[in-house]
Amino acid sequence: MSLTTDRNDPQLTHGVDTSPTPQSLKYLILSDEERAKGFVRPYRDAYTHVGPPGPESDLRDITEEERDRFGDMYAKFEPYPAGSSSRGRFWTQQQLDQVGKGCRVSTKMARELSETYAREPRFYGATYCVGCSMHLPVVEFTWNADGERVGS
Ligand SMILES: [Zn+2]
Repeated sequence: MSLTTDRNDPQLTHGVDTSPTPQSLKYLILSDEERAKGFVRPYRDAYTHVGPPGPESDLRDITEEERDRFGDMYAKFEPYPAGSSSRGRFWTQQQLDQVGKGCRVSTKMARELSETYAREPRFYGATYCVGCSMHLPVVEFTWNADGERVGS
């Protein structure tokens, strides 16, 4: 595994995996100069695969009108609190079944990757799980040090 600051490096991989795959040959990091500007989050170098977060509000059933529009695609609707930027989100049964279903394995990162997370928490959309051998959405992981969601 090696590191690069070149976003166009052809050895970079992108997004999440749907089947087990080795770690990438290269990972993108922020430059030494950028990382030296200071961290906006604590330095944390290990995270655990806890699975996708669940709904934060109480779910309601799909209405007749929504079923007419979407068929049986969605199982529930999560209304967001008043003042949110959208009225809520739909959940499929598969998404609900996956909540909290991580492999619970901890993955440790190289220093430069950890520093990149600390400098720019939303820099990565996906990260590697050594338990699943896959790149998965960062939101499926929490930092071992304090339990905070990765990418937040
Ligand atoms: Zn995993």
